[in-house]
Amino acid sequence: MLDNDCLFCKIIKGEIPSAKVYEDEEMHVFKDIAPKAKVHLLAVPKDHYKLLSEMDESRAETLSHILAKLPEIAEKNGCDNGYRLIVNQGDDAGQTVFHLHVHILGGENLPFE
Ligand code: AMP
Ligand code: ZN
Repeated sequence: MLDNDCLFCKIIKGEIPSAKVYEDEEMHVFKDIAPKAKVHLLAVPKDHYKLLSEMDESRAETLSHILAKLPEIAEKNGCDNGYRLIVNQGDDAGQTVFHLHVHILGGENLPFE
């Protein structure tokens, strides 16, 4: 289910443009508009979940699909020497878009922060 007011749902529907690098039946991967590393991608499930904490056992397959696909996608997009995955959960983590997404950061030696 998509949410009409959600930025990433609009990107998934093609209402807002994105630099897409991968798509399948369960997820989109596109470039972050304000990259925090040389390579900064966002992997986004097509279904609208606001938070990681909404992913109970029955929805966990979506996450395992994303995690299973990410290494190949990351390597094909300039992260062949390593990368970091980040999921921001909620306000204290600074989550700004409330549609679950996994950040993929790489393409250079990353500072630890
Ligand atoms: P978070 O802080 O974890 O919620 O991350 C949201 C991310 O979405 C940030 O890194 C933003 O730079 C990114 N972002 C916001 N708007 C867009 C957009 N239109 N296209 C691509 N990335 C975006
Ligand atoms: Zn959404």
